[in-house]
Amino acid sequence: MTDYFDKIHNVVILGSGPAGYTAAIYTSRATLDPLLIEGEADPTGDQPGGQLMLTTDIENYPGFPDGIEGAELMAHFRAQAERFGTTIISGKATGVDLSSSPFSIWISDSDNIDKPIRSHSLIIATGAHSLRLNVPGEERLIGHGVSTCATCDGFFFRDQNIAVVGGGDSAFEEAIFLTHFARHVTIIHRRDEFRASHIMVERARSNDKISFLLSSRVVEILGSTKVEGLKIEDVRTGAHSTLGVTGLFVAIGHEPNTSVFKGQLNLDGNGYIITQPDSTKTNVHGVFACGDVQDSIYRQAITAAGSGCMAALDAEHWIRENVS
Ligand code: NAP
Repeated sequence: MTDYFDKIHNVVILGSGPAGYTAAIYTSRATLDPLLIEGEADPTGDQPGGQLMLTTDIENYPGFPDGIEGAELMAHFRAQAERFGTTIISGKATGVDLSSSPFSIWISDSDNIDKPIRSHSLIIATGAHSLRLNVPGEERLIGHGVSTCATCDGFFFRDQNIAVVGGGDSAFEEAIFLTHFARHVTIIHRRDEFRASHIMVERARSNDKISFLLSSRVVEILGSTKVEGLKIEDVRTGAHSTLGVTGLFVAIGHEPNTSVFKGQLNLDGNGYIITQPDSTKTNVHGVFACGDVQDSIYRQAITAAGSGCMAALDAEHWIRENVS
């Protein structure tokens, strides 16, 4: 079924995290018949459903007093969007032409690689992906002991000594989760203060299976076909040492998925889409952005969902005024 190439859509939504699905729920209930392009898994860690697919328990999403698994929450979002008639297709935007409406969007559909999907309006909810350390050994050993996703890979590290790099909430969440599998988890952080919330730090400190290596950075991941250790540099003294672990989880933050929009939309210095204050409008009329792709500050599932709602309302208003 590829007839979505043969018509001009009211609204196409790029991305299937909380922002994209919320935009889909609102635009489909507004009878705009949205087409949602859900993305696909790639080596940067992107995947349909977004970053929550890589998360364990979510305890702070309102409405779930006992918490909920990230993947389960996203399955609820998706079912709700489908219930109101959203068409969902898989694929990743490989190119866009936003010079005039209807906009053109090319996707990674091998049967239709040259044929764009066309839409009067566009909601961008492509999210962000995990950053890498960019040290020797990382590229070679990704999937062979180096991971950016504890939920996906934690199971493989039963009774092993492993490490997590980072000092934010992600690093702490991953480290605590990994103690269910690993013998011991070392949190390696380049400073001696943490960015993570107090409650996460306290939970990790009171966990016997977690220890800390502070003011330290990983300068090399050792091993030819699997992780055999880490070369560590003490940032205060410059001294090098080796940490004997068989796994490394990199949890050092994210960058927005905006490469396809470069030169067509205004981006900030870190690559995030710039939206107008109190709005999801970009610098191109009819193009709206929501969720982590335009938010370097809050980056929460609930704020992403809220901005997805805003984008849907902004797009609906724009379509009613501009599309006959
Ligand atoms: P983050 O808060 O940006 O933290 C990234 C951490 O990685 C920082 O400690 C940073 O060090 C370190 N880092 C960055 N680049 C590095 C490099 N090249 N080498 C070594 N260390 C590096 O990212 P995050 O932890 O992914 O969290 C992102 C947002 O999601 C935050 O707002 C967070 O609160 C939220 N979040 C919430 C939950 C939850 O509530 N359950 C869970 C996960 C994330 P410095 O501190 O020195 O800069």
